[in-house]
Amino acid sequence: MTGRPSPDLLRAALAAAARGWHVFPLAPNAKPPALHGEEDCPRTGPCTAGHLGWERRATTDPDVIRRAWTHGRYNVGIACGPSSLVVVDLDPPKHPGDLPPKRWAGRGITDGHDTFAALCEEHDAYGHYDTYTVRTGRGGTHLYFTAPPGLLLRNTCGDKGQGLGWRVDTRAHGGYVVAAGSTVAGRPYNLALGVPPMPLPAWLATLLTPKAPPVAQLDTAAVRARIGRLQAYVRAAVRGESEKVATAGEGTRNHTLFASSAALGRLVAAGTLPEQDAADALLDAGSKAGLGEAECRRTIAKGLARGASGVGRAA
Ligand SMILES: [Zn+2]
Repeated sequence: MTGRPSPDLLRAALAAAARGWHVFPLAPNAKPPALHGEEDCPRTGPCTAGHLGWERRATTDPDVIRRAWTHGRYNVGIACGPSSLVVVDLDPPKHPGDLPPKRWAGRGITDGHDTFAALCEEHDAYGHYDTYTVRTGRGGTHLYFTAPPGLLLRNTCGDKGQGLGWRVDTRAHGGYVVAAGSTVAGRPYNLALGVPPMPLPAWLATLLTPKAPPVAQLDTAAVRARIGRLQAYVRAAVRGESEKVATAGEGTRNHTLFASSAALGRLVAAGTLPEQDAADALLDAGSKAGLGEAECRRTIAKGLARGASGVGRAA
């Protein structure tokens, strides 16, 4: 089942690991992982303390790699997440009737390479990247990029969700790619460009970053009811500051949110305004101004702290 070990595949695994990429064995001449699954975990060796999947067993350790690849003719899988890679996967159509959906139709697009070229054009990006590139067995292309630090990207598939477009997939956390030197169904994966991977272009990182969910958990009516029970002058202050934030123009929104948070922070510090009421009202106003929730919460926290410390700018 595992076939005669291949020195070429061992070399391919070691070469990937030498680039700092975490590798694990795939089934000979195929794509599925060759490691046992959770259902048939023997709870021995690396799984003694509990089953480890391929993403966590993938390694750069040459000794572990030598042991695995002298045991069988395994293809080489690269776990993208632990390797800090984002791989853009440009595929040919699955069959002759596989045509692009509306968003991409009528533009001469016949495969994932065309979709990616169109996407590059839409984003004023030069469509050719001098980055580590592998030609896949079926005539697709894998463009390897280094993942932006601090940003956890996951796999995308075609047009779905955060996906880039028709026949364009990405592999990141939770995903792997078949490495150059492997063979799937008798067709080799070849290195097309052996240069180091480039950092993921900013426009791609932006497209692939999951959008912040809308501020849904905030019940605006409930916030208003709570504010309504406050003393009149506190209520007026909350309404006034909320109004300033909600109507602030782009470019001043964040600063306005900070200043208003500091103003209300003084009332919080004085004990006349519950901090949660201030934060909720400001968050509601900030989201009306079009700011993202995470950004709002950070600015509000800083502003309230500044107000409480008594050094906030007069509002
Ligand atoms: Zn296991």
